[in-house]
Amino acid sequence: MLSEPNCVFCRIIRGEIPATVIHRGEACLAFLDIQPLASGHTLVVPTQHYPTLDRMPEQLAGEVAAALPRLGSAVMRAVGATGFNVLINNGSDAGQVVPHLHIHLIPRRAGDGLGFRWNVRGYQPGEADRVAESLRRELAG
Ligand code: AMP
Repeated sequence: MLSEPNCVFCRIIRGEIPATVIHRGEACLAFLDIQPLASGHTLVVPTQHYPTLDRMPEQLAGEVAAALPRLGSAVMRAVGATGFNVLINNGSDAGQVVPHLHIHLIPRRAGDGLGFRWNVRGYQPGEADRVAESLRRELAG
């Protein structure tokens, strides 16, 4: 069982600090975010300490992911939302503040004013093929 003494989410999992827990499973714990973007904003955290998604064993990641449909559906229904965002800030450069992997479930409804800036850009000619080739090599390696 991987657990870090000073990790805030490990401490919640161990019951050392309080949290508003909504689901306690073998693979993951779900509790309300203390600074919600919307009422019902929930964090789903693996019960073992993995800093980021890419460092998690596939099976454990699958077990955590398996809880998401039911949790997401409950979050939506509980607060009367009509959608939700599933968000992982994976790594500090991606906005991760707490270095224990967590999945945000953020309730959404039409006109709620939440949203993300998608600063989209196009591919240069040939760039998509080169990137895809590099990705396929990484996946095969
Ligand atoms: P991230 O930027 O993805 O690392 O988000 C970390 C999230 O953890 C933030 O939304 C915080 O509000 C939330 N958070 C930090 N400490 C606690 C805590 N003790 N209980 C509940 N949520 C927390």
